[in-house]
Amino acid sequence: MLEAGGLEQVAYCHDEASGLRAIIAIHSTALGPGLGGTRFYPYASERAALEDVCRLARGMTYKHAVCGNDLGGGKAVILGDPAVLRSEALLRAYGRFVDGLAGRYLTAEDVGTTQADMDLIRRETPHVTGVSESLGGSGDPSPATAWGVLWAMKAVAERLWGGPSLSGRHVCISGVGKVGSALAAHLADEGAKLTVADVNDHRVRAVVDAHGAVAVPPDEAHTVECDIFSPCALGAVLNRTTIPRLRCAAIVGSANNQLERDDDALLLGDRGIAYAPDFVANAGGVMNIAEEPHGYDRARAYGRIQGIHDTVLAVFARADADGTTTALAADRLAEERIAAVSRVHQLRAGH
Ligand code: NAD
Repeated sequence: MLEAGGLEQVAYCHDEASGLRAIIAIHSTALGPGLGGTRFYPYASERAALEDVCRLARGMTYKHAVCGNDLGGGKAVILGDPAVLRSEALLRAYGRFVDGLAGRYLTAEDVGTTQADMDLIRRETPHVTGVSESLGGSGDPSPATAWGVLWAMKAVAERLWGGPSLSGRHVCISGVGKVGSALAAHLADEGAKLTVADVNDHRVRAVVDAHGAVAVPPDEAHTVECDIFSPCALGAVLNRTTIPRLRCAAIVGSANNQLERDDDALLLGDRGIAYAPDFVANAGGVMNIAEEPHGYDRARAYGRIQGIHDTVLAVFARADADGTTTALAADRLAEERIAAVSRVHQLRAGH
């Protein structure tokens, strides 16, 4: 698994008294410590958890690299149902294991973990990000992620329609949770026309009431005729079944792993749909977190996140130059930055 996944380190963590079973995977520290969230999830098996954490750690390497962070790829999973297992002892035990990696891995919030969990982990290790603002952290990353998705959309607008304005553009957001609802607010400010979908009716109602959005059923969102379809709920929404039914000019959203399979990017290309790769468009959250070690400053962080606009344009330019998909172009840009910065690290510094 280590060699096949190109991983540096996998640490198994067990504390019988608290019921903690966790796996921490570090894919690459070439650009800096591996940073990625801790997912707390009832995996069907230890094998399934291992495969997930290794895949996610690799994804973080690419996300940090392409968005210019001095961070590497890492991820962790705690095995079990958080509603049953979550306790101070378990999270603090987990914090001790994170601390044992001496800063090679920095953790953060993810599916199944909360900011309050990060605050508990913080009591055992400094190697945790996204803690409460009162503890010097950057807090919930979702608003920053939404800000980055907005700027990715502006880049796509520039490419397709000759300017960054989203005024009058029709955007369909699937999933109006933390990121999707913040994105809807930005788009409403821009004068965009909104269609929204969510399995949670209250969330849909809130966005409809606040911004005059039109609601559609969740399983129809991808078929709405619009300028930009924005997946902000689940992964694998772009696949061989959904892609033929899309009626949008572009896809820009926050959901991770939007393509079910890598070659689904080719299907999008065949249909002439512009795709802003998910790990570029949704990097705002980790860019925000990456600002913490310097002493968090929101204005500085959001200024950097705005740079996702230029990164998306660079990805499209690279895809044009190489005659490839934007997904592959983003991977190449990430790999080239890792190689270039790794080489610089071979130069002797004065310490
Ligand atoms: P969230 O849980 O707050 O929101 C997700 C929303 O999707 C919920 O409102 C949920 O009801 C809805 N949903 C679930 N199934 C759906 C379906 N089939 N159709 C339509 N809606 C559905 O999560 P979030 O923090 O807003 O994150 C949204 C996505 O963005 C996730 O895929 C997440 O992994 C990704 N992401 C989030 C961040 C961040 O900073 N929060 C960063 C990077 C990537």
